[in-house]
Amino acid sequence: MIANTASSGANLIGGVWVDGDGATTRRLCNPADTTKVVASVREASPAQVGAACAAAHAAFPAWRATPSPDRARVLFRFRELLEANFDGVAELVVRENGKLLSEARGSVRRGLDIVEYACGIPSMLMGKTLSDISRGVDSYSVLEPLGVVVGIPPFNFPAMIPLWMMPIAVACGNTFILKPAEKASLAGARLVELFAQAGLPTGVVSVIHGGKEVGERLIANEHVKAVSFVGSSAVAESVYRLAASHGKRVQALGGAKNHLIVLPDADLPRSIPALIGSCFGCAGQRCLAGSVLVAVGDRARQDAVINAFVQAARELKLGHGMDDTATLCPVVNPEQKSRILQSVTRGVEEGAKLLLDGRGAIVPALPNGCFVGPTIFDNVNADMFIMREEIFGPVVCVLRANDLDEAITLANRTRYGNSVSLFTQSGPAARTFRERIQAGMLGINLGVPAPMASFSFSGWKASIFGDHGTHGPDGVSFYTKKKVITERWFGAETPKEGWV
Ligand code: NAD
Repeated sequence: MIANTASSGANLIGGVWVDGDGATTRRLCNPADTTKVVASVREASPAQVGAACAAAHAAFPAWRATPSPDRARVLFRFRELLEANFDGVAELVVRENGKLLSEARGSVRRGLDIVEYACGIPSMLMGKTLSDISRGVDSYSVLEPLGVVVGIPPFNFPAMIPLWMMPIAVACGNTFILKPAEKASLAGARLVELFAQAGLPTGVVSVIHGGKEVGERLIANEHVKAVSFVGSSAVAESVYRLAASHGKRVQALGGAKNHLIVLPDADLPRSIPALIGSCFGCAGQRCLAGSVLVAVGDRARQDAVINAFVQAARELKLGHGMDDTATLCPVVNPEQKSRILQSVTRGVEEGAKLLLDGRGAIVPALPNGCFVGPTIFDNVNADMFIMREEIFGPVVCVLRANDLDEAITLANRTRYGNSVSLFTQSGPAARTFRERIQAGMLGINLGVPAPMASFSFSGWKASIFGDHGTHGPDGVSFYTKKKVITERWFGAETPKEGWV
């Protein structure tokens, strides 16, 4: 008999890998070739959700009482295990999500950065002290963990986004339940398996598989104290409301419509690869993906930027994530592909002009792959569906602006506020941009301005519901609560006079 494991789609409940016994079973197929089944994942039943929450709750007192340097030591071991299993995790990401291997490796590397950041937890949990706030009275603060925390990531970074959550949550002394995205659920579970192997006591980390209902059941469970969510804005808002209505702390990061503004003085040859990487890397399935190109200048300059961009996009090569000559990966599954194609058709119906149409793209050797070619629209206006909504695929809208002022107004008009990038050689323009753009993560001559582990990752407006971004200082703050102690000891008052 084959044992249940993370890779077979099992749940980790109370330290044991068990198959789900819920109502729904999902077949995960390789996005590059949907005839290849990666796993069949049966979701957890309500009783299994309850059992995982109870196990995490039972594990909490001993884990929170474990000194933070000892918790950090487990993280150091996890880091070593993840490094040793790096290729396997990256290849699993390729198999279930479709990314190019280089993209998958990059995403695991960024996750590792956060594990390394969390290894420094003892110094991040230091409170503040002020002696003699009054004569003989001292005040100091301590940070304490919350209890059971649930992490609900999206499909697009099945390893990296769980690593935004889990290492810091656990390092802070919480117990953690991961509910991976149902469209790509194995890599996150594999990380939990490695973390458990690093020496975490039973119940400190758990995996529960499932979709919306399982997520909602976890959020509502009495033992759960906080919810860390990343996904689309509509779901982020509903998770935020549900968690808040149950009195839970919640951070819910949502979708995006990221503008890339190219000023007339931009170094075009060096900017184009960054623009292409931003829009078409990971097949546009990235919350920092550029999806609107704003070409600034007179008509001739706008055309020069757009033509160079279209030409470079035309040269992308669709293929399997393990094919190192491929430069554009498939989207995650047939449903996502059909949703993207419908959005493109709607753009055409609403009057936008296709400069590049990726709807018919095929890879002859992979007829069952979920491929969408690079797609670029001109003649777009703000009311069109393709401008209002996040498409989350390799689809770009082009806007034209006369100057930086107009470009900033266009970028600020979207209801999202994840990231915006500016391409320019001008310091003053960059400074104006920095001051006036309404978004949380800005890039200057960079298409994917992802904050490193020691900064926090967070958008504005409809790209986030809640007050905390993920990882960095926000991560520590989200996964802890503060206590301020005001203290005096009778008989130890500082003498008023004659004391040095
Ligand atoms: P999604 O919103 O469909 O699902 C995200 C997760 O929520 C999944 O695990 C899903 O099972 C779960 N879920 C769905 N309904 C739920 C509910 N009612 N209660 C609890 N959980 C529920 O998103 P997706 O399609 O997996 O991922 C793509 C989206 O994620 C895009 O919109 C993208 O912009 C966004 N994203 C945002 C960031 C960010 O940092 N802001 C990062 C990556 C992806």
